[in-house]
Amino acid sequence: GSFQAMGLGQDLFRGIMAMGYKVPTPVQRKSLPVTLAGADVVVMARTGSGKTAAFLIPVLEKLGSHSHKMGARSIILSPTRELAVQTLTFARKMSKLKDLRMALLVGGDSMDKQFTALADNPDIIIATPGRLMHHLQEVPEFTLRSVEVVVFDEADRLFEMGFAEQLREIMRGVPEERQSLLFSATMPKQLVQFARAGLKDPVLIRL
Ligand code: AMP
Repeated sequence: GSFQAMGLGQDLFRGIMAMGYKVPTPVQRKSLPVTLAGADVVVMARTGSGKTAAFLIPVLEKLGSHSHKMGARSIILSPTRELAVQTLTFARKMSKLKDLRMALLVGGDSMDKQFTALADNPDIIIATPGRLMHHLQEVPEFTLRSVEVVVFDEADRLFEMGFAEQLREIMRGVPEERQSLLFSATMPKQLVQFARAGLKDPVLIRL
């Protein structure tokens, strides 16, 4: 149950240590063996549980370093701009020894700035669903066909904010053989149905 024993790449392991994490939190201890093995998960976890690192670690481990192939390999969906910004800050810190590229696609920022970020071929896109859909509609060459891992952060809030239709649309755009990680504090019926339809035999993790 230590970070050391998880067999993470050197750069990521050092990134985690540089953040001052000594031992995994309970959510991380339970979910990381499953997510690092490549399985889909539904994790019931609140803010403060270490959930952000719980999904960033498998994403960063799977992606390795920057790929010169075109197309984002991971999308992380957040209910709000503030949460997306926080996740980006976190991801940059944890991956500081890697050369991964990231783009933030959230409402309230100029589309132009985000077009530039997209043109730089980011490995990871951290987005709110409305703005991500807007880009997909505006830029025909931009698709989700190269996505390997999709993360739904605070999924209950994503639904509360009315993003259900966008989330289904995004699920239709990503490849069949992706990994999906869904994190949520609560599990309303709508979310259970969404997970059943879109995730592949997800392992349910709760504390
Ligand atoms: P989160 O639940 O993702 O909002 O994280 C809550 C806080 O816990 C953040 O300040 C993280 O930096 C911190 N954190 C996450 N994982 C660990 C860990 N393994 N050890 C110590 N702090 C952690």
